[in-house]
Amino acid sequence: MEPQTPEETEVWDPEPTVVDPGRDGGPPSDAIVLFDGTDLSAWEREDGSAPGWAVGDGAMTVTAGTGNIRTRQGFGDIQLHLEWRTPTTLEGEGQGRGNSGVFFMERYEVQVLDSYENRTYSNGQAGSVYKQHIPLVNASRGPGEWQTYDITFSAPRFAADGAVERPAFLTVFHNGVLIQDHVELAGPTVFVGHPSYEAHEERAPILLQDHGNPVSYRNIWVRELRPH
Ligand code: MG
Repeated sequence: MEPQTPEETEVWDPEPTVVDPGRDGGPPSDAIVLFDGTDLSAWEREDGSAPGWAVGDGAMTVTAGTGNIRTRQGFGDIQLHLEWRTPTTLEGEGQGRGNSGVFFMERYEVQVLDSYENRTYSNGQAGSVYKQHIPLVNASRGPGEWQTYDITFSAPRFAADGAVERPAFLTVFHNGVLIQDHVELAGPTVFVGHPSYEAHEERAPILLQDHGNPVSYRNIWVRELRPH
């Protein structure tokens, strides 16, 4: 029978958990803070040793040649906030200027690059899902300016035999502007050739790339969307 009263279509359970949303990009009360500007205790090198990146003035900065860093903790489906800044001093061009990257599960890269008046291939500019999805617009700020990424990542699901049950998806806001709208990933990021999935663990670290340029990061926090 069709509802006869407004109350019949009201749903009261479950009631959403109360979260203090934080202020000015700061972490909500249910976030895991990965970098608050003071130390790299949530991070390690890929060999498990302490990161070689520099910490100062409330930021961490790539020290070229010391390698990528990754979170000690693994994550699956998440909301991620981070802020990044490419160098004020312009060095290099195209992919060589202010290159870094945020890799989800150590595999799926959202590009970090100085894409302010710095042309490169469109599926490799800032905010691209590298070599897979061109950003909808270029919302880049200039070199030396802090920029924000707010990203939701949905991890791929694999069947017991390794088949892909559901691919990974990414949604990205760059400086508050939607640039990737629930795009489907064809597989892990690859530099040469075409991606294809290989089954992997349900949770894996977030990795920040040392691409040889002194890119800085600050205010990094994550919310697990499918907690343990
Ligand atoms: Mg990169």
